[in-house]
Amino acid sequence: MPSLRSDFSENLGSAPKTAMRQSFMDMALEEARAAAAAGEVPVGCVIVYSGEVIACAGNRTLTDFDPTAHAEMLAIREATTAIGAQRLADCDLYVTLEPCTMCAAAISYARIRRVYYGAADPKGGAVENGVRFFSSSTCHHRPEVYGGIGEAEAAALLQEFFRKLR
Ligand SMILES: [Zn+2]
Repeated sequence: MPSLRSDFSENLGSAPKTAMRQSFMDMALEEARAAAAAGEVPVGCVIVYSGEVIACAGNRTLTDFDPTAHAEMLAIREATTAIGAQRLADCDLYVTLEPCTMCAAAISYARIRRVYYGAADPKGGAVENGVRFFSSSTCHHRPEVYGGIGEAEAAALLQEFFRKLR
C-alpha cells in the first residue's frame, strides 16, 4: 500500500474505513477502464453520499466533443442532479487521477467534503502539483484530501493507455 501523503491533514475519526475507500476507488477504476475501452484517457470518478454511490463517470471529452467532460465534472453534475442541489457538502469524491485545475475548482465550488485520488499527475494535476488550487488564496472551500488510494492500478491504466498511443 502506498502511504498517504503527509502534507494533508487526515481526520480518520469519521472517515470511511480503508476497505470501503478501496471499494469506492475500485468502482472509479472500473469507470477508468470503461473510458479507456472507449478510447478516452482512462480516468474514472465516483461520488459517495452517506455510504451510497450517487454518481459515477469516466472521461468523455472525445465522445462528447467537450474539453470540460472530465470524469469529475460529469460526476459532479450527475450528483447535484441526483441530490437536487448545487452543493455536495456531505459528499466524498473518489477519482483515479489527481484532479486538474478545472476539476479542483469545481470540487471546491461544489463544497465536496473529501477527495480521494489515485495517481499524482505532475503534468496536469492541481492538488499536489501545479497551482495547488486547494492551498491558494482564491480557494474558498478546501476539501480534506487523501492521495495515493489505488495509486498503482490507476497509474498502470494510464501508462498502458499512453503506451498504446505511441
Ligand atoms: Zn479535470
